[in-house]
Amino acid sequence: MTTHASAAERRAGQAGAVTDQLPPPLTPVDEDWARALCVVAHPDDMEFGGAAAVARWTGQGKTVVYCMVTSGEAGIDGLDPERARAVREAEQVESARIVGVPVVDFLRLPDGVLEYGVELRRAIAGVVRRHRPEIVITGNFHDTWGGRNLNQSDHIATGRATLDAVRDAGNRWVFREQVEQDGLEPWGGVRAVWALGSPLSTHGVDTTATFADGVESLRAHQAYIDGLGWENFDAEEFLEGMSRPTGNRLGVAHGVALEVIPMGWGG
Ligand SMILES: [Zn+2]
Repeated sequence: MTTHASAAERRAGQAGAVTDQLPPPLTPVDEDWARALCVVAHPDDMEFGGAAAVARWTGQGKTVVYCMVTSGEAGIDGLDPERARAVREAEQVESARIVGVPVVDFLRLPDGVLEYGVELRRAIAGVVRRHRPEIVITGNFHDTWGGRNLNQSDHIATGRATLDAVRDAGNRWVFREQVEQDGLEPWGGVRAVWALGSPLSTHGVDTTATFADGVESLRAHQAYIDGLGWENFDAEEFLEGMSRPTGNRLGVAHGVALEVIPMGWGG
């Protein structure tokens, strides 16, 4: 189950996080890389804020791959998970295609009840070893979105496991069966993990030119959005509620915020 905060809640949370002072400016993120892997808990996690940045990067000729840890099968109240899985995977593949992402890996771990631990790290490390990215992007893994809006358990487990799995992937003696039996090589080339929408974001991406692509990518999740039952939900308005304040912090019209966690020391 995905249970994202509503637009109003999230905006209120962001406002609450900055109390009575203006939010600090964001630094444009490093774009000197060629391959990124996005690891998120649910179909739609990239589209609720990050897809416009992905569209920018694929437009620059970069390769971006998505990995969905669950298929979001518990996210539609009126639809049995066995049927919802297929619907949501198809929507995710289409939403990825819209922003130039041709590959979506589905790990098919259980939606709503993900547990941080060795097995989750193992699954994500295998994906990192297979795709060999320079940048790994995940979602906000902190307890809240800022203010008092609680984050969701799967997001927290996925982000924390991703941080660890990036290190695991570089060590041939961790999850060694992947190296010795599955034909994967260790991969220690990830320079940083970026957490989308983190309340501790210090960096950002100018998405002014690709904002509309991000809107289209979110609209591809129509069955999910219909299942939420939010009255008068408008993808463009929702995304603007996040992208315009972030853009202000970058000095542009629309932006996506990121927390940058360097891998290795001294980064
Ligand atoms: Zn989610």
